[in-house]
Amino acid sequence: MEHRIERIKKQLHAESYKLTPQREATVRVLLEREEDHLSAEDIYLLVKEKAPEIGLATVYRTLELLSELKIVDKINFGDGVSRYDLRKEGAAHFHHHLVCMECGTVEEIVEDLLEDVEKKVENQWQFQVKDHRLTFHGICRKCQQNNNEAN
Ligand SMILES: [Zn+2]
Ligand SMILES: [Zn+2]
Repeated sequence: MEHRIERIKKQLHAESYKLTPQREATVRVLLEREEDHLSAEDIYLLVKEKAPEIGLATVYRTLELLSELKIVDKINFGDGVSRYDLRKEGAAHFHHHLVCMECGTVEEIVEDLLEDVEKKVENQWQFQVKDHRLTFHGICRKCQQNNNEAN
């Protein structure tokens, strides 16, 4: 975890930002809960446990800064809530998501499934692709099993 904090610190420095204690507390929560897709309010409540003096506005500004610098990705799964997701280390693209429409679990696919699609877009539309988002909505394995048993 410490080397990832260091890396993020360097990324901030490269853009002339400092890793203030408030920003660090926010980054630590994101690292600790990397598998979760937390909203700004969720993150705020967790940061507050470590840094009680911190305000929601500060956490919000930090998250906006981190998403501008592409350290986190802001994502919306269609429930109207913005969630924040750490970009995987060294990842050139934003990982893909599988969202279950029944239980709401979110699974991640780190492998880039869209390389061929990107090439096609670049060739056919002369559009230089920098990133993409891909979310599949469907029914997870567990819910499929539960549905089968209920029938
Ligand atoms: Zn994710
Ligand atoms: Zn499910």
